[in-house]
Amino acid sequence: MQGVIGARTKSPVSNAATDRLLKRYGSWEAVARAPLIELEDALLTQTYPNVAAERLKASLTALIEKRGAVDLSHLAGLETAEAMDWLEQLPGIGRKIAAGVMNASTLDRRAIVLDSHHTRILQRMGLVPPKATTARAFDAIMPAMPEEWSAADYDEHHLLMKKLGQTWCRPSSPDCRNCPALAMCETGRARESA
Ligand code: SF4
Repeated sequence: MQGVIGARTKSPVSNAATDRLLKRYGSWEAVARAPLIELEDALLTQTYPNVAAERLKASLTALIEKRGAVDLSHLAGLETAEAMDWLEQLPGIGRKIAAGVMNASTLDRRAIVLDSHHTRILQRMGLVPPKATTARAFDAIMPAMPEEWSAADYDEHHLLMKKLGQTWCRPSSPDCRNCPALAMCETGRARESA
């Protein structure tokens, strides 16, 4: 649920907010029944509390309607792509969250979680189209990922890419000269040879 409420909010803040919600209401089913105004109040630490509250309530309500509870155990019996399609039918669940559920849960699937840092780097490297949505970037990059990588390798790769995006490949003024990925990067090589 951290992903659903986490738009433009740092992960530790969203994680703390989901912990608080569960402590206050006792279950995700109870969170789904809570009035929107109460959820907004409980999510004031999020960058957009009203959006976070609406998305959370909508996705939990839809999940309960489909499954009778906040329960994703049926996904274990589905292929990864099929399971992600199922998740993406829920309101507020896009490709990044669906991939996160598949990769960073007990499902342990090979799925790349593309946040804004990761997507920007792939675009600058020339590996995905410049204005690709997260879903399009995911479809473009997954076939190029090493077959032998486990779910844990995907997770580690994501964390390293995030670090690269925060340290060198920042949204503005990327530090290409000192970037460890310069040799692999179309944009970096062009900038350094200009
Ligand atoms: S070389 Fe430059 S553009 Fe490429 S990944 Fe590194 S910082 Fe980003």
